[in-house]
Amino acid sequence: MRPFIFQRADSAVAAVRAPLPTPGEAQFLAGGTTLIDLMKLDVMRPDVVIDINGLDRTSLGLIEAGRGGLRLGALVRMADAADHPDVQRDYPVIAQSLMLGAGARIRNMASLGGNVLQRTRCTYFRDVSYPACNKRDPGSGCAAMTGFNRMHAVLGASDQCIATYPGDFAQALIALDASVDVIGHDGARTFPFAALHRLPGDAADIETTLRPGEMIASFLIAAAPWMRRSLYLKVRDRESYEFAVASAAVAVDLQGGTVRTSRIALGGVATVPWRARQAEDALRGKPVDAETARAAAEAAFAGARGRKHNAFKIELGKRTLARALQRAAALEI
Ligand code: FAD
Ligand code: SF4
Repeated sequence: MRPFIFQRADSAVAAVRAPLPTPGEAQFLAGGTTLIDLMKLDVMRPDVVIDINGLDRTSLGLIEAGRGGLRLGALVRMADAADHPDVQRDYPVIAQSLMLGAGARIRNMASLGGNVLQRTRCTYFRDVSYPACNKRDPGSGCAAMTGFNRMHAVLGASDQCIATYPGDFAQALIALDASVDVIGHDGARTFPFAALHRLPGDAADIETTLRPGEMIASFLIAAAPWMRRSLYLKVRDRESYEFAVASAAVAVDLQGGTVRTSRIALGGVATVPWRARQAEDALRGKPVDAETARAAAEAAFAGARGRKHNAFKIELGKRTLARALQRAAALEI
């Protein structure tokens, strides 16, 4: 591991105003389950590491559930949010996405803020002995294009990068139309969570719309009773401790047996947590049955492109989504 400056922040303002060597990159340290891992692999090389765990006694460490909705602080641990009775009852897709992520030890350490900012598991990104990786080293190429790309993305890829966004929780936030609160040098701002992640385009190394030094403070979900009709379905190579090969987070507002509105986000198949708007449009005003769920799934993957080893994900992703929609429609709420 390379040398770095370690700081502890005792307030959010201090965290985002920490002095940096010039030029220098700073990273916040929450659970460290992504950051320390990638620093040991020499993939992430921050000059400054700012430990924000002391802020867990502020709103960053709180789960606040009320009539208006749910606020999840960025330092809440995955396990605590997954186990919270209000989250389980009113926002099941959130609890399920967290419970199906990683293993118990990681869930006890990992924070929600760190979770949504976890980096891709692309082998070529994580192993610096491969020189070609545009995400790690812009302009160097992409070893996965012609390499082993079974776990890579079929949606949202570019000529620069086909790496999959690996997390689960982000899809649940999109299915519930969450917002994110961030704090930076210039103050605080709130924006739709769906706008946090950035497609690789021609700059695969820029993964989010966060400004330099900005810290995630919390995630906000405005309450709606139909959010109880939400779920997360994750398909993986083994039943525990494994990333999604394909997943779907769905929330469906049914009225009189037909879909008034729905929100659908896909995981394991795309370069970012993927909102499937075409699928949502295809379902509107229809009952959810095998035929309409399949039609929605076809719409979701209409623009998908398979590579040498990952083309199977297109059919798998469609089946995963169709099944998730039918299960959600059958829920008693
Ligand atoms: P850290 O490692 O502390 O930080 C990660 C990144 O986020 C860093 O760049 C850091 O600077 C930044 N950061 C942290 N907090 C903030 C903040 N508040 N504001 C701005 N930036 C911030 N995840 C899944 O979703 N599903 C899985 O199935 C899964 N399986 C896993 C299996 C293994 C073996 C491992 C090691 C991880 C797995 N993960 C999985 C990933 C895990 O969930 C993440 O590593 C974890 O959630 C990251 O949270 P953290 O608090 O440890 O983040
Ligand atoms: Fe790097 Fe992306 Fe290519 Fe993987 S897919 S090698 S992360 S550029």
